[in-house]
Formats: sequence, structure tokens, C-alpha cells
Amino acid sequence: MLTPWYKAIVVSIEDITDNTRIFRAQLPDADSFLFRAGQFMTFDLPIHEKRNKRWRSYSIASAPDTGNILEFVIVASEQGMGTRYLFEDVKVGTAISMRGPQGVFTLPDPLPTDKILCFVCTGTGIAPFRSILHDLRNRHQAHPPIHLIFGTRYEHHILYGNDMQQLTHDLDLHYHVALSRETPPNFTGHRGHVHGIYERLFAARPPVSFYLCGWRNMVTEAQQRLLQMGYDRRDIHLESYD
Ligand SMILES: Cc1cc2nc3c(=O)[nH]c(=O)nc-3n(C[C@H](O)[C@H](O)[C@H](O)COP(=O)(O)OP(=O)(O)OC[C@H]3O[C@@H](n4cnc5c(N)ncnc54)[C@H](O)[C@@H]3O)c2cc1C
Repeated sequence: MLTPWYKAIVVSIEDITDNTRIFRAQLPDADSFLFRAGQFMTFDLPIHEKRNKRWRSYSIASAPDTGNILEFVIVASEQGMGTRYLFEDVKVGTAISMRGPQGVFTLPDPLPTDKILCFVCTGTGIAPFRSILHDLRNRHQAHPPIHLIFGTRYEHHILYGNDMQQLTHDLDLHYHVALSRETPPNFTGHRGHVHGIYERLFAARPPVSFYLCGWRNMVTEAQQRLLQMGYDRRDIHLESYD
């Protein structure tokens, strides 16, 4: 079912890396906005005459209990029309038309506690997992062990690093970072891509529900590798950003 379009007002913009920003947008017509952690919104950006060429989707990075303010973490795409508009023209106070919540990249309710959860993401693919993890923490929800595997090229592109470290104290969360292009001094994470991490962690093939989010190359490769490891398709959930 299609949800209505809302007018959201951008209330803050924060640079978190050289090419990634956190946008917070308020829906002034609603006291609180109901959604399930892991869902996304579709923005209608004034970048084309044809409506369906103006639509871009963004996962909600905040937890469902933050009133009528939604957080998005968005990376600038070099050739991208939508992100050029978001990064060059959108200021605090700009109105953005958005529709949602949409999507089924959410945890089951009730959440089984007998199967490990493994979240695999690259770059801004961390957004739905941040929402889900904050939601589990805020609701004191019983949950199985969770592995969050985050991949990016360089240390300065790690998103929500401190936030995730903090969540490891609040949840049964194991946070793994993979850097594919550098190994900084004192870096205790993994050098390479995300794939080596879950292959090593789950080599003995324990019961795991996998959630994969990010650009298609990573998501497709991870899905294929997990199937090769013997995991069932039904245990692999995908959110592909392109
Ligand atoms: C369900 C869903 C949720 C999403 N959530 C987020 C989110 O939370 N944060 C976020 O930053 N993006 C997210 N995206 C991607 C977003 O919708 C846009 O595709 C992205 O911002 C690029 O839009 P653009 O208009 O700038 O580029 P366009 O002009 O639409 O695209 C140019 C081309 O490059 C590809 N492309 C764009 N950026 C990249 C990139 N960095 N790496 C590889 N290929 C790329 C596009 O797929 C397209 O083929 C999500 C996509 C979906 C489907």
C-alpha cells in the first residue's frame, strides 16, 4: 500500500566524513512517526520533470522512538543527481517531500533468540542496522548474539564508529570493521573485505540469520558466498542500494 507524501523540514546537516552527511528531517504534521527499524523513506527531489525519475530511497538510521525527527546517513555519489541536490542545495530549513515508511528489511517479531544475527554492510548500508540496534537497546529487547560487520576503504570513512562501540556495552553485540585499502597503526580490525570475516566466524556453520545491506556488488557476493557455505536462502535477507 502506498503511503502519503509528507513534507519534511531539514533540521540539521552534519558532515561525518569527507563525502558523507547525516541529515535530520522533521515531519511537522505528525507528533510521532511510526515505522519499523530497518525501513526506508522515498524522497521526491526536484531534479527531473518526470516524477518517477526524481525518487530516491534512503534508509532511516534513527530508532522508531525519536518523535517526528528522522535521521538519514547519505554518501555523495560523484555522478549522482539526487545526492548532488542533497549536498549542494539542501540547507537547514529546506523542505523535502518524502513518502514511507517502506520495506521489509526488518527483524521478525517476535525475535527468535536461538539463532545468531549477523549484519553485514558497507558504507551507508549501516543505516538500517543502526536503527535496529538502537531499537533493541531502547526497548531492552531480548536478543541472540549479534555480529555487525562493517566494511569501508579507509579508517576515516568508518561511519558511526563510536556509536557502535558504545552499543557493544549495551547489547550482546560484536562489532567487526574491515578496511579494504589501508591498515592504520593500532588498527585492531580486519584488513580486506567484509566476506573473510563472516566466513571465518561461521566456518562451523552454526544457525545464523544474515542481513546484508549496501551496494549491489557486496550484497550479491555475500549472498553467493553464504549459499556456498551451505546457508539456506531463507536465512539471507537483502537490502540492495542500487
Ligand atoms: C531501499 C534503499 C535504501 C537506500 N538507502 C540509502 C542510504 O541510507 N544512504 C545512501 O547513501 N544511499 C541509500 N540508497 C541509495 C540511494 O537511493 C541513491 O541510489 C544514491 O543516493 C544515489 O543517488 P543519486 O541520485 O545521487 O545517483 P543517481 O544519479 O541515481 O545514480 C548514478 C548511478 O550510480 C549508482 N551509484 C550511486 N551512488 C553509488 C555508490 N556510492 N556506489 C556505487 N554505485 C552508486 C546508482 O545506482 C546509479 O546507477 C538506498 C537505496 C535503496 C534502494
